[in-house]
Amino acid sequence: MSTRKGSISVKTNDIFPIIKKWLYSEHDIFIRELVSNASDAITKRSTIARSQGHETPEGKIKIEVNKTERMITIEDNGIGMTETEVEKYIAQLAFSGAEEFVQKMNDLGNTSTKDEIIGKFGLGFYSAFMVAEKVEVESLSMHPGSLPTKWTCHGDTDYEFSGSTKNEVGTKITLFIGSDGEEFLDKYKLEETLGRYCDFMPYQIGLVDLNEKEASETIVNETQPLWKKDPTTLSDEDYKNFYRKMFPMDPEPLFWLHLNVDHPFTLQGILFFPKLNQNKPIQENGIKLYSKQVFVSDNVKNVVPDFLGLLKGAIDSVDIPLNVSRSALQGDPNIKKISNYIIKKVSESLKKLFNSDRDRFEKAWEDIGLFVKYGCMQDEKFDEVMRKFVLFKNTTGQLITFDEYQESIPENYKEKLKDKYVYFEKNMSDESLRKQLILENIQVIETDQYIDPHFMQHSEYKKIGEQSFKFSAIDSMIETLLESEQTTPNDIKIKDFFKMVLVGDDKSLENKLDVEVKGLKNSSSSAYFKVDENMKRFQQMTKSMGQTSFSMPLKKTLIINPNNALVQNALKIWEKGEKKELAEKICHHVQDLASLSSEGLSSEDKEKFVSRSQNLVQELSQYIV
Ligand code: ADP
Repeated sequence: MSTRKGSISVKTNDIFPIIKKWLYSEHDIFIRELVSNASDAITKRSTIARSQGHETPEGKIKIEVNKTERMITIEDNGIGMTETEVEKYIAQLAFSGAEEFVQKMNDLGNTSTKDEIIGKFGLGFYSAFMVAEKVEVESLSMHPGSLPTKWTCHGDTDYEFSGSTKNEVGTKITLFIGSDGEEFLDKYKLEETLGRYCDFMPYQIGLVDLNEKEASETIVNETQPLWKKDPTTLSDEDYKNFYRKMFPMDPEPLFWLHLNVDHPFTLQGILFFPKLNQNKPIQENGIKLYSKQVFVSDNVKNVVPDFLGLLKGAIDSVDIPLNVSRSALQGDPNIKKISNYIIKKVSESLKKLFNSDRDRFEKAWEDIGLFVKYGCMQDEKFDEVMRKFVLFKNTTGQLITFDEYQESIPENYKEKLKDKYVYFEKNMSDESLRKQLILENIQVIETDQYIDPHFMQHSEYKKIGEQSFKFSAIDSMIETLLESEQTTPNDIKIKDFFKMVLVGDDKSLENKLDVEVKGLKNSSSSAYFKVDENMKRFQQMTKSMGQTSFSMPLKKTLIINPNNALVQNALKIWEKGEKKELAEKICHHVQDLASLSSEGLSSEDKEKFVSRSQNLVQELSQYIV
């Protein structure tokens, strides 16, 4: 048989060492590249045949592994190539991409960005040389009268053509595996790699281990992924099964949306809202990116906005450029459109769920609440649709929206609380105050997630239409909520007395504590701590950002209730003069009770409180015995 020698026209001779060295970390992508070339070739053949009115055999990709001979073959029944085509597409053209790659690598010097670029750079056919010392391409073109051909290359710039006996249309690539590809000679490793990249490829992929005694073929993929199917023909069970297959370790998803768009870009996919495990950090990379059913990446950071990062599922689109660097992706107009489309679909589907099945929406809220709030903060369009559906827990444990909160305000408070949202911070706000407000039919909402202070700030800053939002902590609105009476001369006496006992001449306390007396109409407690809203927010922010060591001292005001018997008695005892110490103890006790009811006592104060309580109870019980 006649042979013909040729040479790859490439300026950079060191392409092969570079391919081997730099692609090492991800060298299993040769499978993705070769199998997707095979898949493309099958599609091309059937497209051409169809346009000419012919039938083609069913597309099939066959992979054989032979450990003893150190060979892997990948054979398709696609369009095939003539000798001229092999020379043009494989030997010459494919190299222009490789050359660009080498150029990029050299430009970058020894930076860590290299690793990033490598993953994005599909080297196509040449990735075969990451694992093979020698590669043979045998092909017979579908065009009538074509002759089969065989191309051989030893991983350097020289190659050779020789005749071939291939008698079926298609291409067979034989890899003679070198030491770098050792592991792929193992059937299971190969199967796992195929599973990763080719799970949903559109043509059947059969794997045969020629070293097995009775070598049989395993079909490794499912050719019809769910996202390709018509949603109207699918049941909930179909979606759940699909999810189970993709994420076998996960609990059942909460709900899902099926994406399908043809214009101005093509995209199909299914996104699931997973049930979050509160004990596990949110798992990123749950969305798998496919191009024509070939797995490409599970890093979708540039395609979907951050806040959708917790969703899971698959997106299949040929309009997402895959072989370019991150910075190019960010400026890509298609990516922006795709990202906006996904945001819109997600918000529409949440809105639909809210309106059609409030119960289910509420059940899911625990899992999706954080993400919805975060989404509102990140994306204006999402905010416009979703802010209406953000839920808060109210005093009676119901989940309510902003609008429902406003509707719940009793008539006599409507004016005072217009556009205001009174919130209660668990373990920080005053419990007895909350109980008191229940009696007044005033709802307060609970804020307990670390995102809440940020979300509140965002909502206040960003109006939606004419509607504005103002949050106030229950503890900053005591007088408004409980309605204070006119100050009396006795109130002033009480104030002076408490101030003298609790602050006295202690200069260090002056900046921390203020004492006020307010006749609160609807209150039975002896005292409350009032906190300035701005200070409170500042404190929440620093806390939510984990800066506990740096927290500004919060100046608090102790509001004493002169209608309370304990307060009145303390003053009387003091004025009598015999048991001044007891009166002082009561003052401290009143302060500590207010602390206990809100954020609690520091361990030092707790100890004082306990020993004082013992003292007081002992002393008081003497009067009865
Ligand atoms: P890309 O697939 O990105 O174009 P490749 O280096 O993988 O780059 O392949 C170069 C070209 O070689 C392909 O565009 C195609 O024309 C041809 N080719 C590669 N593999 C096959 C195959 N199995 N059957 C037919 N043509 C192929």
